[in-house]
Amino acid sequence: MKNSKLTSFMPKIVIGSLVASLALTCMPFPKGADQAIAAASRSSQSFAKFMQMNAPSRTVKTIGGIQTVTNLSSTVVLVNKQRNLPSTYVPKDLVVPNVPFSFSGPSPKKQLRKIAANALEDLFAAAKKDGIELKAVSGYRSYATQKSIFERNASIKGEAVANKTSARPGQSEHQTGLSMDISSASVGYALEQSFGSTKEGKWLKANAHKYGFIIRYGKGKEKLTGYSYEPWHVRYVGVYIAGEITRQNLTLEQYLQKSI
Ligand SMILES: [Zn+2]
Repeated sequence: MKNSKLTSFMPKIVIGSLVASLALTCMPFPKGADQAIAAASRSSQSFAKFMQMNAPSRTVKTIGGIQTVTNLSSTVVLVNKQRNLPSTYVPKDLVVPNVPFSFSGPSPKKQLRKIAANALEDLFAAAKKDGIELKAVSGYRSYATQKSIFERNASIKGEAVANKTSARPGQSEHQTGLSMDISSASVGYALEQSFGSTKEGKWLKANAHKYGFIIRYGKGKEKLTGYSYEPWHVRYVGVYIAGEITRQNLTLEQYLQKSI
């Protein structure tokens, strides 16, 4: 089932409006309403618990001198320059989403975790319906692949520049299997900031959250994320959380910190 993890998350506002509408429209409550409220309340509690369990302060420990994340397979795992994935981490449920890619032939980078792959298929289908042609460029990346990318970039541009535009091994969201780089023919499928000004880039920014994705490295958020603006890089976090992050114009760091 798609987004099965998130079906149990009901924001508090739903409970509030449910109670309010029942109170306004009918007394006594219609048959089953009390059960509905109880269920909504339980869902809200489990959402709060989920956020608590995934709080940044609770999901990191120092292993071999490296700040290592512990909620590896969570849909809200926070990976950044301060929070590393172990070199051995490979998601267990990688699949190739049925979407168009910018290149042909099999490749590990076509993969995403199942939940994100399903959501990406829905996102691409919605884009197509709106006359927007997107192509997937790069998804899952192993620790070893990220290591060779970073080392190559560092040898060409120097380590400081490489660190702004590419992640060190263990610090790439692509290793989570929850991130995909997306581009369009209008920029030759390049991963560059001009994609953000194309109609495809604008569509992605306006619609990604409806399918559970956020533009992970936003414009003007460089100090918070540690990365330059990347209008092509989407990260799956689930529909409700993606909606909140987008609506409130937050980074994933800020949202997780706020939710404790
Ligand atoms: Zn990316």
